[in-house]
Amino acid sequence: MKPFFYKSFLIITTIIVSACDNKKAIPQSVPYSKPYRAGVVLSFDDAYVDEWFEADQALKKYSWKATFCVCRIDSIGAPQLNKLVQMQKNGHEIAGHGYHHFNAVTYAAANGIDNYVKVEIDPMLASMKRLALHVTSFAYPYGERSEELDKALAPKFNIIRGRAFCGDVPEKEGCYFRGTKYMYAFDIDNNHVHFSIPYLLELLDYARKENKILILCGHKPVKELTANYQTKIETLAFICKYIELNNMQFYTLSDLDNLMAKE
Ligand SMILES: [Zn+2]
Repeated sequence: MKPFFYKSFLIITTIIVSACDNKKAIPQSVPYSKPYRAGVVLSFDDAYVDEWFEADQALKKYSWKATFCVCRIDSIGAPQLNKLVQMQKNGHEIAGHGYHHFNAVTYAAANGIDNYVKVEIDPMLASMKRLALHVTSFAYPYGERSEELDKALAPKFNIIRGRAFCGDVPEKEGCYFRGTKYMYAFDIDNNHVHFSIPYLLELLDYARKENKILILCGHKPVKELTANYQTKIETLAFICKYIELNNMQFYTLSDLDNLMAKE
């Protein structure tokens, strides 16, 4: 009776975990070498540099820290490039998000992983280095990843981030730091199907109570919503106030690398 129950439990757990992330494996927990305070990673994808800069002006009173994952670096204008450098100087992280913003899984399936790296990763790293942007983290466009891609990108980045596609209960979400370089972010754009302030509050409460680091992502911060892929500044201020009130802390993606057990 007992072994049967145990087996069923294992099967059920596996089904829940895979259903929660588009059938992709969620990285398993490993022991940490360093203790840390509960907190939040706020990351932003694409190239909304002016809006990121404005959000920084509005939120710096909370001593927030964000990670800006930039795509199409060679199409960004000089004033915006200056803003990126300035934000990096102010303690935010600038990360990579693809040279063209190709879907990594689709591109690699059609052209091979070596070509993906040659076309999408290497030129991005070269351009960002030339601009004095110190890139050590990468966020997959559309959050689409595979184990083979993770393996190919592992030597190039300390942190590799996808997106969590769940929205059920906090303990089943893949969007908490687990002591590995692979992680998922929960999307706080207003149009995201699983996003709501009460659910965000549940995710934050879970991080606070269980001493975890919640990983979030958004795209374009705005005061008033006008389209999809926008995160309300109000939502960001809500997170900043929660962090302040509960004595938690902001982390960048690269901060997580410093928390990991190194061999
Ligand atoms: Zn993107």
